Parts: sequence; C-alpha cells; structure tokens
Amino acid sequence: MRIQSIRGMHDVIPPDSGMLRNLEHALQAVLQQYGYQEVRLPLLEQTELFRRSLGEVTDIVEKEMYTFEDRNGDSLTLRPEGTASCVRAGLQQGFLYGQPVRLWYGGPFFRHERPQKGRYRQFHQIGAETFGLTGPDIDAELMIMCHHMWQRINLTSRPVLEINSLGTLQARQHYRTALVAYLQQHESKLGDQEKQRLHTNPMRILDSKNPELQDVIRNAPSLPEHLDQASVEHFEGLQALLRTAGIEYRVNPHLVRGLDYYSQTVFEWVVPELGAQATICAGGRYDGLVEQLGGKPYPAAGFAIGLERLMALLEVSRGQDGIDVYMVLVGEQASHAGLKLATRLRGQLPSISVVVNCGGGSMKTQMKRADKSNATLAVILADDELDSHTVGVKFLRERRDQETVSQDGLAPYLNEYLGIQRSES
Ligand code: ATP
Ligand code: MG
Repeated sequence: MRIQSIRGMHDVIPPDSGMLRNLEHALQAVLQQYGYQEVRLPLLEQTELFRRSLGEVTDIVEKEMYTFEDRNGDSLTLRPEGTASCVRAGLQQGFLYGQPVRLWYGGPFFRHERPQKGRYRQFHQIGAETFGLTGPDIDAELMIMCHHMWQRINLTSRPVLEINSLGTLQARQHYRTALVAYLQQHESKLGDQEKQRLHTNPMRILDSKNPELQDVIRNAPSLPEHLDQASVEHFEGLQALLRTAGIEYRVNPHLVRGLDYYSQTVFEWVVPELGAQATICAGGRYDGLVEQLGGKPYPAAGFAIGLERLMALLEVSRGQDGIDVYMVLVGEQASHAGLKLATRLRGQLPSISVVVNCGGGSMKTQMKRADKSNATLAVILADDELDSHTVGVKFLRERRDQETVSQDGLAPYLNEYLGIQRSES
C-alpha cells in the first residue's frame, strides 16, 4: 500500500504554492512598510510553554496539541500558535524591554482538529506582535495594517472588523461572577464540556459553537457593561482612531477569543461567505502574558492571519507563477549555444524565468512542450541558425508572426516585450 500524508496535513503544489508564496510576499511587504521585523522561531517548544500561556482549559491545550516525548523523555509540542514562542524568545534573547518592539513571524502551525474546509492540522499563519505599548494607538495600528493588507492583495470580499474589550483582569472577575450566575439558570441546556467549564473557564462558553446554546449566549450578561473605567476609555480611544482612519468596525460584545492571555482589546476580521470558518485574522492585547511566562509585567498586542482561509478567497487569481521563456534547442550545437544564451539572459534580466528544453526532441515535440509549459514566448535556436547569431521568437499567447532577433539584442527585446505584458496584466 502506498503511504499517504497525515490527515489534515496537505502538500502545497503548483499553482497553489505560487499563490501562497505571492500572498506571503504581499503581506510581508505591508509589514515591512509599518516597520515590523521578522523573527524565525522553532516549530517545537516545550509543552509547558503552551500550557502556561494559553491556559489549561482551552481548546488548544485540552485537545488540539501535537505533544510527544522526545528521545530524552522531554515533553515537546509542535507549535499551535506563535504568540507564546514570541514572548518566550523575547525574554530569552532580551529584546523585549525598552524601546517598543514590532515583530512578525510566519510559517506552519499544528493543531489536532477535525479537518474540514478552512480547518487543517497543519496550516499557515502570518502574525504580528508588538511589545511595550499600552495605548489604543498600537491596537489601531494593527487593525489598520490588516486593512491595508486586504487592499494590497485585492480581496474582493470585504472582511468585517469586529472588536470588543475584555477589560482588565479585575473587571473580568466581576463579569465572570455575573456570567456564572446567569449560566447556572440555564444549566440544563449546557453540554458536558460546558458544564465543566462553568466552574473552570465560564467565558469560554461564550465562544461555544454549539447551536443549541446560541440563544443563551445571545442573552447573556454583556461584558461591556462590566468594564472598568480605564478599559472603557481605552476602547473609546481605539474606536475614535479607527473612525479617523476610515476603518469600518462593529462592536461585538460576545467576542471573547479562545485563549486565556487576552485582556482589553480583542478583534477578528470575518468574511461571512467563508461559512463556519469565517475568521481570517484574530488578535488583541495580552498585557498579562509576559508576566505569566516569568517576565516583569509588560504590555503587548498582536494578531495572526490564517493563510489558507485567505487563499480560499483568492481562488480566482491563479496562475501568477508563469514561465516567461521556453528555449527550444534543435541539434547538438544549438543545445550548447542555448545553454550559454539562457545563462546570459538570466544574468541580464534577473526577474525573468527561462526554461531550457531538456531531453532533446524534434522541433515539433519541443514546441508542444513549450506550449504546455504555459510560457509566454518560445525562443528557438537550431543548428542551422547558429552562424547568423539570431534566434526565432514565437509568441505563444497572442496571434503574431514569428520574429527573428539577434542574440545580442535578445535581452533588451525580451525586457521590452515582457515589460509591456506585465504592466498590462
Ligand atoms: P477558530 O475559532 O476558527 O478555531 P481560533 O480562534 O482557534 O480559530 P486563532 O488561534 O486565533 O484561531 O488563529 C488565528 C487564525 O488562524 C484564525 O483566525 C484562522 O484564520 C487561522 N486558523 C486557526 N486554526 C486553524 C486551522 N486549524 N486551520 C486553518 N486555519 C486556522
Ligand atoms: Mg480553534
């Protein structure tokens, strides 16, 4: 029997691989414009890091982590998210404190969930984290940057920004008491897991996707009414900044986010047409996390974008990973001359892609390959043309007669033709 990949862990093959790379580049370009710098973090961490940061009673820690013992008997976990590692690295490398820090990371993440559209066991995120800033201005910056990203990748669907404030830890305690009292009145409707959570992490019940609970959740005491004054001001400040920036948003009082480390601002970008997996980006403020991981208290805020969900919205714009030139080389001498010419072209025009025919074949066979390769042009070199130092240029994507171009003039010729082609598309 042939060996298959692990369920929920997918090969990314062309043309999706090209789309994913373009998407990553576009998002990274925006991050760079806002002064965020990349950190590359290990895929494996000590299990304890996630237990302590995400919280014991969370979906991720309770049932989604890939945890195993290594050969030394240490408990390791494939990273389910990036924030905890980022803080761990900041404390370990000493880059956290002092001048405010703006960072981004990307790559694969792992969660043992039930695979379905938009939900996989290995998936990709790009995330941003900031440290050392307490005001709503940085919260706003993170959201504005996301908005900029959606524009940059030409999203046709309009993601909706939902925001909420969880208040300070203290305010949340008050709220929690009110919430538990309310939920106890509806205990018969709670499932086993929710009944358990009523006493361990009742706010997580608001995050439940259980359809029978949606009415109860809708009528639950609202978090904003229990906010402390400082959090109210922070939240109002954020909204004023978003209005100034012209970013539309919706306050969703039931937005709580799944993880323990959030405080005050939380937000999600939602694309309703994606159905059950509609959140393409989620984040917020996590002022308590640094201390929770052994540092001195320090403000922090960030977000993470799920790239597969974004890709699903970009399905129409495939095929950007094309080849520019396919070199058809007929004859022994031509194949040597062509190899040299291709190398010269790639040096002269660093942004073009040149595929050299390998494996010989007649002119007809090679032209078929050129066509199938989806190249824009075929450059044809045959033994009997070598003396004239010319090549034939055949246009594979438009009706136009073949042209003869001198080998020395080929680079400027291609530059002009492909330049024009590119600016049109
Ligand atoms: P959900 O409520 O959909 O399970 P989450 O709250 O667990 O999401 P986060 O931990 O906030 O997700 O991760 C940030 C983003 O990463 C999500 O908004 C989503 O776009 C993406 N994401 C999370 N889990 C997965 C997954 N299993 N497969 C694909 N993308 C995911
Ligand atoms: Mg989840």
